Amino acid sequence: MTDHVLVINTGSSSLKYSLVDARTGEAAGSGLAERIGESQGHHVHRGPDGETGTTAKIPTHEDALRAAIEAFESHGPSLDDVEIAAVGHRVVHGGSRFGAPALIDDDLIAAVTDLVPLAPLHNPANVEGMKVARRLFPDLPQVAVFDTAFHQTLPPHAYTYAVPRSWSEEHGIRRYGFHGTSHAFVSQEAARLLDREPDDVNAIVLHLGNGCSASAVRGGRSVETSMGLTPLEGLVMGTRSGDVDPAVPAYLMRELDLSMDDIDQALNKSSGLQGLTGENDFREVSRLRAGGDERAALAFDVYCHRIRKYVGAYYAVLGTVDAVVFTAGVGENSAEVRAAALSGLQRLGITVDENLNAAQSKEARRISPDDGEVAVLVVPTNEEWQIARESLNLVRSR
Ligand code: AMP
Repeated sequence: MTDHVLVINTGSSSLKYSLVDARTGEAAGSGLAERIGESQGHHVHRGPDGETGTTAKIPTHEDALRAAIEAFESHGPSLDDVEIAAVGHRVVHGGSRFGAPALIDDDLIAAVTDLVPLAPLHNPANVEGMKVARRLFPDLPQVAVFDTAFHQTLPPHAYTYAVPRSWSEEHGIRRYGFHGTSHAFVSQEAARLLDREPDDVNAIVLHLGNGCSASAVRGGRSVETSMGLTPLEGLVMGTRSGDVDPAVPAYLMRELDLSMDDIDQALNKSSGLQGLTGENDFREVSRLRAGGDERAALAFDVYCHRIRKYVGAYYAVLGTVDAVVFTAGVGENSAEVRAAALSGLQRLGITVDENLNAAQSKEARRISPDDGEVAVLVVPTNEEWQIARESLNLVRSR
């Protein structure tokens, strides 16, 4: 028997894969095929002998997965030697139907296809990835792990928008939340770091990457989260606005004669840090700010102010907080964001130790003083490992 899971994350023009030992989280091999369907594609594979890159046309996602299988054969580790236990797929939107990972069959694929209107950029690619993997690995169990699933424990008063009832009853308009695999992993790791059981820990998790989201986790269960019907709501992100007055689109349609698609595109692709500074990458914004750029300084302040606002709100939601946890590219690496976002919260028991915060590390760690009432933690996320664990648990429990 083996504990390895092939984790697949399919985007509209990309396919990311990782062969993960579900017990240890170690990736025996991994890779990324990009620019699928374009005139020139690129495939990088990482195996025991290091990294190999190939530039060639990759017409379809099926070609991408075939290229991955061939790379495992040529550069290792051989899939025959590893004996995969399951294929685990990251699926973005599971709607209200999926609160847990599920075995992939025709019904599940039909259900995820029905949810395409809620995630038009992601679910079609996820469906394609599931179909292709079933064709190429017909004998392996395949598991869908949903980005929305962890937040299915939100109580009705947290997931209900105050809009006409028919919108939710007939069209599924409600808060779903995303990044759930990361919030689940990070809140479990936080409990481990505190040497407590997950059901004994209340945590505010701040996932700050290209996409950003906050969640309030009570005893291991998500009770509130910042992303909503789609991943646009909440914190300021690389290219997404996060919260804006819902009247803004109607105003722009009337006053500037913009179409709904123009506005949707602008809020998703040219807002956030991108809209405020012209740069979507946080490191670039930091560099500009350090050089005295006023727009970058304002963007930094808006970004951190929004985080602080959510920390305060989620503190009130939870009542007692054991840990505030930072994760993802910005959360794991930017000491200045962590310090700025939590400044002035001593009265809530939240303080950051300057030296611990400044230390660079890839390990999960505490950055609050030992006597700090609330533990402030940095926990590197590992969504692939979480998908592998959940997939293996499901296939072993059958
Ligand atoms: P992710 O989506 O988790 O890959 O995070 C991507 C974001 O993390 C980008 O905005 C990066 O600029 C940011 N990031 C990565 N490394 C650093 C770093 N050392 N300092 C600040 N931001 C970083």
